[in-house]
Amino acid sequence: MDSILFIGTGSGFSSLPNTNLLLNFKNVRILIDFGFTGLHQIKKLRINPSSIDAIIITHMHSDHIGGIEMLTYLLKFKYHRKNTLILPHFELKFMLWDALKGSMKYSHEGVMKMSDYFNVFIAEKNSAYRTILFKGHKFTFVKTQHVPGMLSFGVIFSMNGKRVFYTSDTVFDPALLFNVNRRFAPSLIIHDTKTNNNEDDVHAPYKQLMSLPEKTKSKMLLVHYDDNFEKFTPKEDGFIGFAKTGESYTP
Ligand SMILES: [Zn+2]
Repeated sequence: MDSILFIGTGSGFSSLPNTNLLLNFKNVRILIDFGFTGLHQIKKLRINPSSIDAIIITHMHSDHIGGIEMLTYLLKFKYHRKNTLILPHFELKFMLWDALKGSMKYSHEGVMKMSDYFNVFIAEKNSAYRTILFKGHKFTFVKTQHVPGMLSFGVIFSMNGKRVFYTSDTVFDPALLFNVNRRFAPSLIIHDTKTNNNEDDVHAPYKQLMSLPEKTKSKMLLVHYDDNFEKFTPKEDGFIGFAKTGESYTP
C-alpha cells in the first residue's frame, strides 16, 4: 500500500521537526515541503536523499523550504543529479531562486543558474484550480489564506484510490473546506492547526477547528502543532488525531 510518512509535524516555532510529508507511492517518492529540519530528519528516519524523486513546495516560509539548499547540494555534488521541484505557481520559481541564489549562485564549478541545480515542473491553471500530472499522479493545488499577500497552496492527490487534501499552512477557513469537500470529497484531510493560541491570524487554531461539523472532523489528521500538543485530546474532540513525526499513515 502507498503511504504518507510524516517527516515532521511541528510548527515552525516549536521544538518539533517542521511539518513536511513524504508521499511513498509504489513508483515514486515525493516530498511535500522540506524545511530547515528536513535534512536532519531524513537522516534520522534513514531515508536515502537520492531516493526522493521530487519536492512539492506549498509556500515560501523556511519551515517549508529551508532544507532545499543543502538537499540540492547533496544531490548535485554527491549523487550527481538535479533536484526536481513541483511548483503550484510560476511565481514560486522566481521567489525560490531569489531566496537561494545568494549562496547557490556560487560553487566550485563556477557561477550557477537555477537550471544547473533544478528540474522545475509548474502546475497549469485549469478553471479554479492548478493541476499537474507527475509520473502518473495528479496533484491539484488550491489557494489558501495564510499570510496576507503571500502565495500559499494546499495539495489534493489520490492515494490507494482515496482522495487526500493536505491544507499546508492556512487560517481557519470553513469555506475552503466546504468547497474542497463538495468538489473533491476527500476521505482524508491533513490540516494545519495551532495549539498555543486561540486567535492566530495565519494558522488554524485548534479551538476553531473544533467548531467544524463532526463529519469533517472525523476525516481530519492534524499537523503543524506546538510544543503543548499533549494537553489536547483530538480523538475525544472528534478528529482522527495528531499525526506523529516519523510515523506513516495509509489512506
Ligand atoms: Zn507558513
